[in-house]
Amino acid sequence: MTSKAKRNSEEFDPGTVIEEKVSKQNGETSIRRFIKGRFLGKGGFARCYEFTTQESHKLTAVKIIPKASLAKARAKQKLISEIKIHRSLHHPNIVGFEHFFEDSENVYIMLELCTNQTMNELLRRRKRLTELEVQCYLVQIISALKYLHMHKVIHRDLKLGNLFLSDKMEVKVGDFGLAAKLEFDGERKRTICGTPNYIAPEVLDGKQGHSFEVDVWALGVIAYTMLVGKPPFETSDVKTTYRRIRMISYSFPDNVPLSEPSKNMISQILVCDPNKRPTLDDLLKHPFFSQGNGFPKLLPPSTLACPPSES
Ligand code: ADP
Repeated sequence: MTSKAKRNSEEFDPGTVIEEKVSKQNGETSIRRFIKGRFLGKGGFARCYEFTTQESHKLTAVKIIPKASLAKARAKQKLISEIKIHRSLHHPNIVGFEHFFEDSENVYIMLELCTNQTMNELLRRRKRLTELEVQCYLVQIISALKYLHMHKVIHRDLKLGNLFLSDKMEVKVGDFGLAAKLEFDGERKRTICGTPNYIAPEVLDGKQGHSFEVDVWALGVIAYTMLVGKPPFETSDVKTTYRRIRMISYSFPDNVPLSEPSKNMISQILVCDPNKRPTLDDLLKHPFFSQGNGFPKLLPPSTLACPPSES
């Protein structure tokens, strides 16, 4: 990002009013106003803020992307694709896409506000989660993935930082910046993308292309990370991490008590051949989800800071 673009997006102080020009059918234009609130976080190009719609007082999350960061055709194409895919998705476990508009400086993407941050911050506070919590969270992520894959969308960047938590503690899969929509059955994608710790071996290999199974792989990495407290292939340099992924070189630490079903589920997912990984329906039938006395649909907000009580 250029320093000018950075300054532009940082100069939005709380209280700033952003105006959207809305064209009416009769050719007239009206103005919708949004009031900028607190800063929520920043990603690659975007900075995200809470916005209030002036007329309805509704709170949303708004991703502000400076147009200066979209000078390259590739960056612009990526944003167009993100918007096209995300706005077509409607599922309780996917961050709702509400609206987008632009002015001379920025593109604004209005999203369902997730007030409890991402699972990254959750894990940072909690260190690791209980098996009951992981059951509850994974079922919701699998539900979102079933919907995505049914609509031929591969997320390709599933990770804790893209799993948002709503005020009701629902998981919401977000950030469709690397998502791909397949045009025909059996299509294989070739672009290398993803986040180092979560990238599947067939993406690194690149020869046969990749498909929906990369999201199942990432789900295995997510399950391990939630239960153990750190990603299975993490090292201090990316090349070594990639080598470990290609060799499926990871282990379960002795000092973290893990049930046999949880280890079995992770081992079934983290295999090199994508065709040998369980399907999402296979996963839902895995004994990992039937162990214990059942799990709640949603966890209480107290689990943002402390493990759920045993009772
Ligand atoms: P990028 O696509 O540039 O990586 P992100 O989508 O990751 O941007 O958003 C950057 C940050 O903004 C996130 O890490 C999070 O802190 C915050 N954020 C994004 N979307 C929401 C949302 N719907 N609700 C609350 N915070 C959000």
